[in-house]
Amino acid sequence: MLILWAAGLGLVVGSFLNVVIYRLPKEESLVVPRSHCPACQAPIRVIDNIPIVSFLLLRGRCRACGHPIAWRYPLVEGLTGLLFAMAVAHFGATLHAAFLLTFLCGLVVVSFIDLDHQVIPNIITLPGIPLGLVSGLLLGQPSVLDRLIGALAGAGFLYLVLFYGGVLYGQEAMGEGDLNLVAMVGAFLGWKAVVITILVGCLVGSAVGLSLIALRRLSRRQHIPFGPFLSLGAAVALFWGDRLISWYLGFLR
Ligand SMILES: [Zn+2]
Repeated sequence: MLILWAAGLGLVVGSFLNVVIYRLPKEESLVVPRSHCPACQAPIRVIDNIPIVSFLLLRGRCRACGHPIAWRYPLVEGLTGLLFAMAVAHFGATLHAAFLLTFLCGLVVVSFIDLDHQVIPNIITLPGIPLGLVSGLLLGQPSVLDRLIGALAGAGFLYLVLFYGGVLYGQEAMGEGDLNLVAMVGAFLGWKAVVITILVGCLVGSAVGLSLIALRRLSRRQHIPFGPFLSLGAAVALFWGDRLISWYLGFLR
């Protein structure tokens, strides 16, 4: 029951995250004006703004003009609902979960803005670093020191990858935004999670990048946004990190 409530809350929050993803890079207000159809400017009625349900009822089209609604909107809502449900299933209705929900919202926003604009907004990641450290003070585990090491070592390591990657490929492999994102992951999840985040991010990111190049959907010169892959790595570390680490240690023995 609790998990269903969490999923419902996630759908509603996801609907707001769509607004943030769309408006933040344009420096528009997040509150006014009300959402409107990008094609005909008709304001979207409350009844047509129910997460996922309205998209299905309207068969993905604007009620006023019939212009297709991007499938991204229900995707972001559904993803946020799923993440909220998973977080509450893992950590219960606790203060710990509340901090993690904030963190997960940050990851969703950063990923989709990076996909659209190849930039990770510091206005999301930089406040996330002190917030993550404060959650360490309140929760105890992982310790604030663990989180601080995660933030600094993660950003430092990624800086080296950026520096040498930039030298090797003659272009910036990753941007400053990626460093801040990894620092935020460290502040929320501690240093072990940062290792998993960077590993998973690099593995999945390069696999997807190479596949796209092989399929000729991407040229070698083109930049792949790294934020979504780092965010995926952070989610893997959050939900399956402990299991991955004990599996790996068992593997070493
Ligand atoms: Zn319309």
